[in-house]
Amino acid sequence: MKILLSLYLFIAVVLTQFSAAYLYSKGRTNHRKVFSALTLCVSVYLFGYLMIINSSNLQEMIFWNQIQYLGLPFISALWLMVALLYNKYILKKRMLILLFFVPVITFIMRLTNSWHHFFYKSWEIRELFGYYSLYMERGFWYYVNISYTVLCLFFAIYILYFGYQKNQTSYARTHFFIFFLASLLPIMGIMLILFAFDKWNIDYTALIMPISLLIISYGILKYDFMEIRTLVRETIFENHIAAMLILEDLKIVDYNKAAKKFFGALNISLNNYSLEHIFNRQPELLEILKSDTTRDFSLLIDGKERFFEIDVVQLGNPHVRSKRMLKSIRDITEKKKIQEKLKILATTDSLSGLYNRTEFMRLAQREFVWAKRHNEELSLLMMDLDCFKAINDTFGHAAGDEVIRKMGKIIMTGFRKTDIAGRLGGEEFAVILKNTSFQEAKKVAEQFRKTVANTKVIYGKQEISFTVSIGVAAISGGISNKKNIEDVLKEADDALYKGKAKGRNCVATME
Ligand code: GH3
Ligand code: MG
Ligand code: MG
Repeated sequence: MKILLSLYLFIAVVLTQFSAAYLYSKGRTNHRKVFSALTLCVSVYLFGYLMIINSSNLQEMIFWNQIQYLGLPFISALWLMVALLYNKYILKKRMLILLFFVPVITFIMRLTNSWHHFFYKSWEIRELFGYYSLYMERGFWYYVNISYTVLCLFFAIYILYFGYQKNQTSYARTHFFIFFLASLLPIMGIMLILFAFDKWNIDYTALIMPISLLIISYGILKYDFMEIRTLVRETIFENHIAAMLILEDLKIVDYNKAAKKFFGALNISLNNYSLEHIFNRQPELLEILKSDTTRDFSLLIDGKERFFEIDVVQLGNPHVRSKRMLKSIRDITEKKKIQEKLKILATTDSLSGLYNRTEFMRLAQREFVWAKRHNEELSLLMMDLDCFKAINDTFGHAAGDEVIRKMGKIIMTGFRKTDIAGRLGGEEFAVILKNTSFQEAKKVAEQFRKTVANTKVIYGKQEISFTVSIGVAAISGGISNKKNIEDVLKEADDALYKGKAKGRNCVATME
């Protein structure tokens, strides 16, 4: 029995020493430092107990009992301090003095017991189950101390339970609960000493304490790790460039700096009100914020249109009754501008400003399908400048470019907004005339031919005149039955070739 008890205490002393040193070395947080002090006190107390049961005379035992009281009086106060620090209480100096008042008196009382016998009235050696034990008759201060100890522990337990109730995150709740249970153990030990098995004279608290501490140490290490993770997450949220809102049942429960700035610029202050209340004058924005899907929207800010993307992430379990989500609002104006620019670059011919061949073919195909499905008219003009080589040769390549540029402008102004015009290559152009019959198209082409013939390009000091030949084809009319846009193009091309053969500067068809 004695050997078992000694072994247990020896291991406990080593473990508590080690964990006190470890926690102190990693004492980043206050609660760790205080916990390290607590562990050290427990270690001293356990060591004293170990020495008592291995002593053979009263004198030695009293000495080691005194050693125990180097640590013992402070344990419960430190325990309470850890619990308070855990709950993020800020401990003022006055409060600390109050907290350690009784422990310090106890310490002095025990030290000076031989003069006044307030702590222990008398002591004797008793032999129980093969080991010697110190038996003391308790004085009144002993009871003061033990009452204070129990009071501190009860208070610590209350605070830990409060922390358990208060915390939202499951890891913090679990942690507080474990700490709470671990704190119940020493109280049970004290109760056993005081009321139940006094005659065995075993210090149950000493036996229980190491287990209790082991559980708490494990908890602290794990909790701190979680806490730093939470801290990192919070910092990232707070400093994210996107404006972020956390909504719970369509109420704003949290938001970051960027959100404050963003909504501040819109003269909207974010408070713990419902979205309806905050955005009553912005119905469009309200609707987007309420929705569950990612959406884009634009706003006029300082007279300029800006584009935003609102992402949404569901938070937590979707089956929980309250609906929580994270909304992040990103300004995508620049991105949109670049996209727009790239799109223009990819679809437009830079010289004429008309669609390039690829884009023209894509749009023409789309219009062809649409017209076929809706049984509508559709015509196509194929144009090629006459004797362009001669223009290049006479006035130079740059002058030729100027003519192409001019041609682009006349096409843009000469046709309806809904018509689709492209430069197919070189000095070849094509125009899709929507809702236009073959007959009408021929008239439009003739008119355009005249417009071109009457146009002059001023290049340097020279005036350049030019003409165009135009081939006309349509879905209905002409010769062949057209199954796709290529068929229409082919017929218009053939007509154009015919027009060139006829002597240029004319409108031709395959009829
Ligand atoms: P035709 O009446 O039979 O069409 O005679 P043409 O001289 O116009 O003959 P064609 O259409 O075959 O010749 C096109 C010429 O246009 C050839 C090329 O040098 C010139 N060209 C093609 N692209 C450009 C361009 O971007 N700029 C300039 N300046 N010339 C171009
Ligand atoms: Mg030509
Ligand atoms: Mg040509």
